[in-house]
This record gives sequence, structure tokens and C-alpha cells, in this order.
Amino acid sequence: MRIENLYRQVIMDHYKYPRNQGLVPDADYFVVHLNNPSCGDELTIQVKVTNHQIKDIKHQGSGCSICCSSASVMSETLIGQSVDQAFKIINEFYELIKGYPVNPEILKGDALAYQGVSQFPARIKCATLGWKAVEQGLLKLKEEQNNG
Ligand code: ZN
Repeated sequence: MRIENLYRQVIMDHYKYPRNQGLVPDADYFVVHLNNPSCGDELTIQVKVTNHQIKDIKHQGSGCSICCSSASVMSETLIGQSVDQAFKIINEFYELIKGYPVNPEILKGDALAYQGVSQFPARIKCATLGWKAVEQGLLKLKEEQNNG
């Protein structure tokens, strides 16, 4: 099987069967809502951080297959990671999306399926929306902790 087909299957699988989808009424999670007007994607994410570790991520949104599937992959990739490692992984995902080589020690698994997106600049915002939402929330959390 060609690698492009394998990657397409990974993306479609996460689109059809999204992992960690659905929000929870729990104040222990921080919430970030982002949208991508160029494509019409809308996404809300919830992240629970305890002792500098990401314990859980939820997501709910509507949009294209790239955006929705990527949020699912993001949740699987980042749950269980330390906050510092999550920043590294998110940055590595941005490199992948831009078409740059990535460190396989940092970024692995289904996230690699999005490397083809670099050939479609209009879809870059779709692929990174969920990752940006988590990054934004983690940065805010870090700021609050530094100030408190
Ligand atoms: Zn989109």
C-alpha cells in the first residue's frame, strides 16, 4: 500500500471514529474555543492538567475531515504527556505541517499522517486548529501559575 493511502486511511478513521470526542461538565478542565473562518471549522477543546501533566483532553466541533480528525489525533497524542513535552510535540507537529523533517523521538504515531498537508497550504489552518487551541490554553495556564 502506498504511504499516502495509509495516511488517508488514518485520517478518515479518526474522522469517522473520533477519539475523546464530547465535552464534559467539569470545572477541572480549561476550555478553549477556536474557529477557522477560511474553512468554516469550529472547535472547542477541554484539557485537564494535574501536576504539570495532561490527564485528559476532550474536543467537540464541526468542520472538515482534516480539522475534526486532527483534533482526535491531537487528543490521543497529548494525553499523558507532561506540559513541557506537549509544547515540544505541538511545535514538532507545526514543523511537519510546514513540510519540514521532524524528530521521530518527539512526534510519532497517527500525527505523522498529516505530513501531506504541507502540499495544501489552504488546509494548514484546518490541521493545526486543535493543536493551537491546546497550546493557547497551556500557555495561559503557565502564565497564571507564574503569576500566582
Ligand atoms: Zn477545515
